[in-house]
Amino acid sequence: MNKIEHIGIAVKNIDDSNELFAKLFGETYYKMEEVASEGVNTSFFKVGESKIELLEGTNDDSPIAKFIAKKGEGMHHIAFDVDDINTEIKRLKNEGFKVLNELPKKGADNKLVVFLHPKSTNGVLIELCQEIKK
Ligand code: ZN
Repeated sequence: MNKIEHIGIAVKNIDDSNELFAKLFGETYYKMEEVASEGVNTSFFKVGESKIELLEGTNDDSPIAKFIAKKGEGMHHIAFDVDDINTEIKRLKNEGFKVLNELPKKGADNKLVVFLHPKSTNGVLIELCQEIKK
């Protein structure tokens, strides 16, 4: 794994939170994107070399809406950048980690993504992401 790619934060209202985090960082988001397959709206902020992703559920069945209903707003996941997501999935499965989706999915921000089940990672939802080469 190369580095922390971004940290995901679950929010109830992305417009309100975009304003709040723009105030916090002194700079507005650089990208907003809906990932319809996951039922989320996302926005991305750059903070130095790091990124923060805000996630808002677009329907009650979305994983983000369910997360907020259960735990409230807050830190949702940590994403790590990898060079070859399929090799990493294989490696981590061999190490006993539970992978939530066997095949990488197209996520936000031009990435292939996979999530590890928080039960196998001390309660932290971990995302692996690989940049899609154009
Ligand atoms: Zn993410």
